[in-house]
Amino acid sequence: MNGSQPKTSVIPKVAYVIAGIVLLCGYFVMRYAAIPSDPKSAGWPEGGKVLLSALVPLVGAAWVLLIGYIYGDSKRRLMRPWLWTLLAIFIPDAIGIILYFILRDPLPFYCSKCGASVNAKFTFCPSCATPLRPTCTQCGRGLERGWAHCPHCGVAAPAANQISPSTGTPAPGAS
Ligand SMILES: [Zn+2]
Ligand SMILES: [Zn+2]
Repeated sequence: MNGSQPKTSVIPKVAYVIAGIVLLCGYFVMRYAAIPSDPKSAGWPEGGKVLLSALVPLVGAAWVLLIGYIYGDSKRRLMRPWLWTLLAIFIPDAIGIILYFILRDPLPFYCSKCGASVNAKFTFCPSCATPLRPTCTQCGRGLERGWAHCPHCGVAAPAANQISPSTGTPAPGAS
């Protein structure tokens, strides 16, 4: 079991542990320190105090899990996990978190020959040089599956490339 395997949880275990601590400590701090020290809380019903004590750390724990998700997700996408984790934590108003979800790379896949984890944008496997996608017969650049023509030189793509793999039907314009 290690974090690079595709079936394991994206959120690291330590994030669940921290979220649990936040939840537990947050509740007791709210219930027995923060709320009693606020003079306005004197008239509040007991149930309201319990609810508020639970709600605040719950939001904190959810935030910890979201940061943990960004760490795990950026790691499996072969991005820089600590950079994105720190940006998500320190850029205010959740802008770092929003930026991450806008800018994240596509999920990598595994080379069919050597099993290396490769970026979805690569044309050849960096470990064993196996072609990961069809290439243009004229200029040799990588083609996306389903493209009918090379976007760089305009030459028609090989007929097999014009079948979209996800649906099994010819891509639009391939007829
Ligand atoms: Zn390979
Ligand atoms: Zn070309």
